[in-house]
Amino acid sequence: MHELSIVMSIIDIATKQIENSEATEIEEIELEIGALSGIEEKSFEFAWNQGVKNTPLQNAVRKINHIEGVAGCMDCMIDFSIKNLFDACPICGGHFLNIKKGKELKVKSLLVNINNKD
Ligand SMILES: [Zn+2]
Repeated sequence: MHELSIVMSIIDIATKQIENSEATEIEEIELEIGALSGIEEKSFEFAWNQGVKNTPLQNAVRKINHIEGVAGCMDCMIDFSIKNLFDACPICGGHFLNIKKGKELKVKSLLVNINNKD
């Protein structure tokens, strides 16, 4: 499943981020998911719940920022909002588009809880 491998790589990033710190758990994770990233929210949710078990992310609060898709038409040079990757330009109907926003999938921030070990 596509979403599961995405979740696994997010866990990987998060785990590496806290590896050299005192933190053992991540309290909150903020993600940016673009409308054109191809991620299906329900599958992502499911994959997340499966994937985070026994990882530093298992109790983390997940915040998702949705990024709207924006494309620039290479023919008439306008920017427009786009919902699907294969949408045409609303002005000229062209398909030569430069996707400017909406394909991103990234970890924006992590909030950790540092427990005193002594
Ligand atoms: Zn156009």
